[in-house]
Amino acid sequence: MADSDDAIDLRSDTVTRPSDAMREAARDAAVGDDVYREDPTVNELEARAADVLGFEAALYVPTGTMGNQVAARTHTDRGEEVLVERESHIYKWELGGFAQHAGLQARTIDGGDRGIVRPDAVHEGHVAADGHRPGTGLVCVENTHNSKGGTAIAPERIDAAAEAAHEHDVPVHLDGARLCNAAAALDVPVAELTRSVDSAMCCLSKGLGAPVGSVLAGDAAFIDDARRVRKLFGGGMRQAGMVAAPGLVALENRERLADDHRNAERLARGLDRLKGLAAHEPETNIVLVDTDAPAEAFLERCESVGVLGVPFDDNQVRFCTHWDVDREAIETAVRRVSEVV
Ligand SMILES: *Cc1c(COP(=O)(O)O)cnc(C)c1O
Repeated sequence: MADSDDAIDLRSDTVTRPSDAMREAARDAAVGDDVYREDPTVNELEARAADVLGFEAALYVPTGTMGNQVAARTHTDRGEEVLVERESHIYKWELGGFAQHAGLQARTIDGGDRGIVRPDAVHEGHVAADGHRPGTGLVCVENTHNSKGGTAIAPERIDAAAEAAHEHDVPVHLDGARLCNAAAALDVPVAELTRSVDSAMCCLSKGLGAPVGSVLAGDAAFIDDARRVRKLFGGGMRQAGMVAAPGLVALENRERLADDHRNAERLARGLDRLKGLAAHEPETNIVLVDTDAPAEAFLERCESVGVLGVPFDDNQVRFCTHWDVDREAIETAVRRVSEVV
């Protein structure tokens, strides 16, 4: 936790330091060469992740980006289209990886205020392969939706999008970087949010607090193929149990996410009362705040009093709660910001 002299870092839930339990787990991890499938800690993490995410198998990957990109490549053939929400991370923030790693063309759809991929948008966006059109090879959904402010999308919504895709025989990948936040907010098991999709990626390194790593889950045949693609992308790691061990600890931190959500609510309420700020009602651990002043200027003032956030738009900033900021730090953050608006 930041004391009063330290900056309160609300830029992202990726800034957390590993807990003592995680450091101990790393130190004591049983390891082997994971490219030979001989790292018992990685094997355990993959089995546990498959279980939590509700799939037959899972693959440990260094980052969420790699998990998403491996999934896209594994599901598709070169030249196909991928149907994505237009503010989604996989489309907007991964350097156009679809084109570079899988030779795909993206077609975007508008998921509205909450970033929901609706079945009619899937039907409308789907193209059948013919003499002129490449055919849709994949539909992607995101939960929680980062750019829309961490919206937690209900299982029925995901089911509806997946059903529409499956009517066209198109698989669905779920970018669940913060899927455990969605499950905590909706009070459902994680597997309920993945029950109708063909693969799901979940970051261990965000709200769950691991220093490194994400998991990609799917059926056994998909994960076998994904393992080869991970190697192709340079993600075949050796004694990866050293970093997978904290990931195992992280995976059991799901209950704790509700604290982050309560802190996000406190932060939103506190900031919303201040002049020139309008906070969106948070659904999980992300707080979007509309600012009368330009976002960059507002953030500079926040930084001068030791509160960090990121710009999201010309007049919008994002603050993210996580386990290195407790209730007291949130109250301090609000007080500090109140001194500069
Ligand atoms: C952070 C994030 C990713 C990528 O994860 P990295 O580990 O940073 O590569 C993917 N999707 C969403 C929605 C994210 O928020």
